[in-house]
Amino acid sequence: MSTAPTSIGAIAAGPGRTVYIETYGCQMNVSDSELILGVLADRGYAAVAEPSRADVILLNTCAIRENAETRVARRVGQLISERRSTRRVRIGLAGCMAQHHRDRLLERIPGLDFVVGPDGYRRLADLLEADEPAIAVQLDRRETYADILPMRERGVRAWVTIMRGCDRFCTFCVVPFVRGRERSLPPDVLGEELVRVASEGFREVVLLGQTVNSYRHGETGFGELLRMACDVQGIERVRFTSPHPADFDDATIAALGECPKLGAYIHLPLQSGSDSVLESMQRGHTLDEYRRLVARLRAAVPSLALSTDIIVGYPGETDDDFEATSRVMDDIGFDHAFLFKYSPREGTRSFRLEETVDETAKGERLERLIAEQQARSLRINRQMIGRTTEVLVESSPKKQPDWLSGKNAQFKTVAFEPAGPTGARHGELASVLVEAATSQTLSGREIGRA
Ligand code: SAM
Ligand code: SF4
Repeated sequence: MSTAPTSIGAIAAGPGRTVYIETYGCQMNVSDSELILGVLADRGYAAVAEPSRADVILLNTCAIRENAETRVARRVGQLISERRSTRRVRIGLAGCMAQHHRDRLLERIPGLDFVVGPDGYRRLADLLEADEPAIAVQLDRRETYADILPMRERGVRAWVTIMRGCDRFCTFCVVPFVRGRERSLPPDVLGEELVRVASEGFREVVLLGQTVNSYRHGETGFGELLRMACDVQGIERVRFTSPHPADFDDATIAALGECPKLGAYIHLPLQSGSDSVLESMQRGHTLDEYRRLVARLRAAVPSLALSTDIIVGYPGETDDDFEATSRVMDDIGFDHAFLFKYSPREGTRSFRLEETVDETAKGERLERLIAEQQARSLRINRQMIGRTTEVLVESSPKKQPDWLSGKNAQFKTVAFEPAGPTGARHGELASVLVEAATSQTLSGREIGRA
């Protein structure tokens, strides 16, 4: 889950047209931005890292909460006002917010040149040729972009979208409306993609989908796909996000227990610790079912780290419901949590429900869960002090450029003092003795190659 916008650096130099992309929201959007670059590369565009050098400026947007949209509206207004009239620079919006508001965006944001939804990327280059503001927001339940090669920025971790859309229609969520119905990519296409990713030097893959574990294409379910990914030579770790608690099957849990490359981390959104709120949200499971799933996952992977998503202030959430959430988070002992204030989204079922928790109370509930989670994360992370952990090296910490950092199997960030010339380099696994911990990171020193 990412919140700060990311921009994709230059992938090719050349005399042709240039595009700058800023990505908001979740990893699906990061992956879609790579797809958009793939679509545009076919039409001669090269990516640049600054808007001032671009012929096309595209913001790939999120619609999940209102504040995500407000931020993009501000940013696009700023980019439009900074545009110089000496060059023809096209500025537009892509992704979920584009789909959510469609042509209303062209009315509301003077100077906007194009609006393209998640199923319209094939038409993007044509939209850019148009003389008038142009729009492509038709959802297409068959579109998987299976034939498009994404342009990935080189690194250790590759995002691989395995399914698109969502059929669950949780009452609060705009995703099924802006990303359309669920569809999975063919396993042979994904197999080739994974081999290509490994040959390009990526060492970790993250399989992506809104309900990633509901993946199914013909006879191939998610469990088989996980095993297939783990069999790819050169890939050291396979992760996935976000699974839905009601979509785990035996084959997936068996794969988790048997394939060491699958790591020991699952992001398992809970949303609320109260059964009545879960029911009202139409999440498709009870609290007890969630707890039993956690017990099965921990039995399969004893060192499992868990994170979750929680929404506070959903319509009808009482003090008791909120206290139940706080208690459950502690009982389960989440390593990390993404915590949100409920944001009513137009078009969803809960949009019609009367809001019963005011902004102040939502804020107080959020603050309390944040404080509790920070203390919990610190407590859990401190238990790692004195132990050895295996880190896939990906970069150097900004504040300590002579150190290295990466993620361990539990997806925790570990910064460490390298062993010197014999130590692990980027893309390799290091054994690190943990000597200190905060609520966010572990740190220590390398004691050998893993
Ligand atoms: N598909 C994933 C699942 O069901 O677990 C979640 C995808 S959603 C993009 C990420 C998270 O955003 C959700 O788990 C939920 O906590 C949060 N979210 C979605 N709609 C929201 C809303 N209207 N207000 C606040 N948070 C919301
Ligand atoms: Fe949204 Fe629910 Fe689908 Fe997740 S499962 S994307 S929360 S509708």
